[in-house]
Amino acid sequence: MSYKTDLYQQVILDHNKKPRNFHTMEGATHSCEGYNPLCGDRLTVYMKLDPAGVIDDVSFTGSGCAISKSSASMMTSNLKGKTEAQAREMFGSFRKMVTGEAENSDEERLGKLSIFSGVREYPSRVKCATLAWHTMASALDGSGSTTTD
Ligand code: ZN
Repeated sequence: MSYKTDLYQQVILDHNKKPRNFHTMEGATHSCEGYNPLCGDRLTVYMKLDPAGVIDDVSFTGSGCAISKSSASMMTSNLKGKTEAQAREMFGSFRKMVTGEAENSDEERLGKLSIFSGVREYPSRVKCATLAWHTMASALDGSGSTTTD
């Protein structure tokens, strides 16, 4: 097993066991429920944006496989303090990375999240990894629910 694969699995297991920001949110300005029918993952993402469009707080609830849950956990840990535009850019980079189309600038933008490049090896899990991001972007768009296909 390569070092990177090993690290990937450790991070996924850790965030799955102890998801960060795993709670509902009072007074959320944006929220959306996301569903991945391929795997059965269901997540709700909550966000609080300030009037300037900066993400003050973000959390999630739901149930799903380890990849969907750990991806949501890491996403919420990385979005606080970002602007709406930055959050959308990160989603674009993340999607490119898990489908193997990322450039160096994408991996730089993602920082620790680039651990999810390991998902490339498992194409059937790509939608698990992107569910939280899809749901977050749909919440910003003002949709109440979304599915990954
Ligand atoms: Zn899944």
